[in-house]
Amino acid sequence: MDCPLCADDGGTLVARTREWRVVLAAEPDYPAFTRVIWNAHVAEMSDLDAATCAALMRVVLAVEQVQRAVLWPDKINLASFGNLVPHLHWHVIPRWHDDRHFPEPVWGRATVGRDAAVEARRASVAARLPTYLEALVQTLHPGV
Ligand SMILES: [Zn+2]
Repeated sequence: MDCPLCADDGGTLVARTREWRVVLAAEPDYPAFTRVIWNAHVAEMSDLDAATCAALMRVVLAVEQVQRAVLWPDKINLASFGNLVPHLHWHVIPRWHDDRHFPEPVWGRATVGRDAAVEARRASVAARLPTYLEALVQTLHPGV
């Protein structure tokens, strides 16, 4: 099977259990862009039974809560597409009014260039990354 999320972690590993893992995505404009990946190769949320689905959403919401507590974003975007990689994963993306794509999705057209405000926001998020990662690990281990 040619699936990148079966082949490797899909980002910098932050926490892992038998069922799921949380990784930091390598998105240069969005240093705290985080993914929650279901370890088994399933495509859709409804491939999981209700209890398992709820367990996965608890992890997604735990990541969201840590982002709110530590990064103070203006908004959080939760997304699950899997159009390119049909292996169940959730994007948890903290957003700010002065980020590059606001109010568009991060995959959309950039609304501004990498100007001073965008760079200041990116640097500010990057500076809080160690605190964010430590809080994520504390919250997610040994599993939520
Ligand atoms: Zn897979």
